[in-house]
Amino acid sequence: MRAALAKTLKATAQPALRANARAVSGLLEGYGDHVFKGATAEPYLAKQGLSAATLSNAEWTKDAAMADKVAAAVLEWATENDATTFTHAFQPQGASGVRHGLVGMVQNAFFKFDNDGVPVWDLKGKDLIQGETDGSSYPSGGLRGTHCASGYVQVDSSSPIYLRGDTIFIPSCLVSFFGDALDEKTPLLRSVDALNREGVRLLKLLGYEATGLGSNIGLEQEIFLIPRDKYTERQDLMLAGRTIMGADAPRGQEMCDHYMAAPSHATAALACMQEIQAQCFRLGIPLRTRHREVAPNQYEFAPLFGTATTQIDQNLVVMQIIEETAAQYGLAALLQEKPFNNINGSGKHNNWSIGTHDGVNLLNIGQITKAAGDDAFPTIMAAIVSAIDKHGDLMRMAISSPGNDFRLGACEAPPAIVSTYLGDDMTEYLTAYAKGGGKYEPKTKDLSMGVEGMRHMEIPAQDRNRTSPFPYGGHRFEFRAVGSAQNVSLVNTVLNTITANAFKEVADRIEGGETAQAVAADLINTHVPKVVFNGDNYDEANQEMLTKRGVWRIDSGVDAICRYSDPKNTALFEAMGVLKPNECAARQACLLRPEILLDHYVGTVDIEAKCMVDMINKHVLPSAKAAELPQVAALEAALDTLGKAIEEIHASSGKPQADLARTLRLETMIDIREVCDAAEGLCPADLWTLPTYTDLLFLDQTTNVDKNYFP
Ligand code: ADP
Ligand code: MG
Repeated sequence: MRAALAKTLKATAQPALRANARAVSGLLEGYGDHVFKGATAEPYLAKQGLSAATLSNAEWTKDAAMADKVAAAVLEWATENDATTFTHAFQPQGASGVRHGLVGMVQNAFFKFDNDGVPVWDLKGKDLIQGETDGSSYPSGGLRGTHCASGYVQVDSSSPIYLRGDTIFIPSCLVSFFGDALDEKTPLLRSVDALNREGVRLLKLLGYEATGLGSNIGLEQEIFLIPRDKYTERQDLMLAGRTIMGADAPRGQEMCDHYMAAPSHATAALACMQEIQAQCFRLGIPLRTRHREVAPNQYEFAPLFGTATTQIDQNLVVMQIIEETAAQYGLAALLQEKPFNNINGSGKHNNWSIGTHDGVNLLNIGQITKAAGDDAFPTIMAAIVSAIDKHGDLMRMAISSPGNDFRLGACEAPPAIVSTYLGDDMTEYLTAYAKGGGKYEPKTKDLSMGVEGMRHMEIPAQDRNRTSPFPYGGHRFEFRAVGSAQNVSLVNTVLNTITANAFKEVADRIEGGETAQAVAADLINTHVPKVVFNGDNYDEANQEMLTKRGVWRIDSGVDAICRYSDPKNTALFEAMGVLKPNECAARQACLLRPEILLDHYVGTVDIEAKCMVDMINKHVLPSAKAAELPQVAALEAALDTLGKAIEEIHASSGKPQADLARTLRLETMIDIREVCDAAEGLCPADLWTLPTYTDLLFLDQTTNVDKNYFP
């Protein structure tokens, strides 16, 4: 338990003012002292004759003498914090993971041996900036033979080194002997380069010399926290991250009484969330927002936004901290997108904007207009809207994690139709701008609470639209359809790449002699009427209409994955320097190929189907027999069906195999689940051996909570 947090909690028993002062100092004490940057790094770097500013770009990684000094500083900091070990942490290929596998590493102790065989603590610059590792057991999608095992890691200086437990983590990229990306981060960094290159070029043509730019993101992480003892009695939750069967509890989310309700100490959830935040704060992760979500036992965390590469590394750590901390509080954290039937699943809203190094947000009309003039904002918006229209298939591909198949289009997440919401105000403005019309004045409206004596509020005239997959929200776009278990590197690689490409197309035309206004007008006229949709995306008639309009719609996750190798997309990735065609093919293959059956889509379905067989054999069928339920014969037949389907999938390969897996999961297994759930509904409680939805979602978890937390 963190001393700081204990203090915070103890303080709550004190008179209000004192308590508040203590709580604040407890919270800030040690903030960021486990991340090697800024004030934390400064004293160690100063001893080496450097300053913390050294870490702000990659130059130190290219100069051996400087790298040695940084390494010496890191080593001293590590030693003072009782760390004995270091590791290059990389992001293995594959867009999604439930339980482990999102971050890869080999951990090495700091010591080497001197000539007399005595261990000496040592970390040289070369040890810090690069490493060689055996990555042979990772799916490579055919990028190399099984016997060509070397992988090379290099530090990503855009994301800070951090400390957890006895280990220093060095955020890194992983490439093969041939320089092909074997990870999620390398393409992300290449996409940031592309966005920087084309963005700076376009801004210059618009009259604004920016020193550099990149994408900023803020990731809202949804999770479930459920009683751990019940979790461990369910093989499906433990191995597949979701319930493959389970009858609805008599109560779900129909009372809307969970959403934004106070997290409770009695369920251990609040204490667990506080500990998660305390750990994040030590790591300099600004996880400031916490609240309950729509479904029972569903919660959300959100940080203050920042540089995309850092935020992604931090989100991966946050996911791990959530899982580990929950276990210490008698809880199990579920990160999977759809753990329960008939109540909401979990997403990870990816809020995305573009910021220059001087702090100008390209999506903030006030800031960009001041920096670059009146044509800049409509030109940038027109470019982004054109990118969504052309490459909505890639946006859909980037969210095709196996768990997301259950969410998209289920009226809790936006449909698999990639339109964007700008709001009527902004849409009208862009349309008018294309006709040569005037300036955008964001409208405000006067809001009264209807209470005499309370002040009127001035609010934006623009509402939010939570049914859109990619709404504009004032200063950012919010990719709402992203899945909770995903590593969002691919998501942001796609957003950066398609935007960089659109910026390039606009810049090329301006250099070719057209005015920015003319190019923007053309893009607005072509793309806004098609891909901008401000209405209700959950409404089926609207979905039909958007499909007829030709907005990208890919219902199947398997089909979406195959967009990786579409010639339009391989050409785009290659032109932007993000992925070579062989890297695209390998990525698609990694998500679909037979030799990595136990990973990704097919592997996920394989695990789920085998869990179902096991649970029917060991629980549902024995219960049904003991209670003499009418489902016995159907359950026996189901086992037969599942066995055959699994065999058929094992015998198949490539896309047909993935299609078979998808049918098994979304058709056959759903039918079988209905039989299991009907049996559960009829079975006397003493004969039913699996935890029920009521146990998982409504049982208070008071055991295993450290009583010191309660003053
Ligand atoms: P919402 O408003 O969607 O309900 P929150 O306020 O909880 O959700 O979270 C919004 C997230 O968006 C936060 O992580 C926040 O820091 C982030 N965000 C806000 N502005 C920007 C921006 N300009 N660029 C990127 N992310 C942003
Ligand atoms: Mg949101």
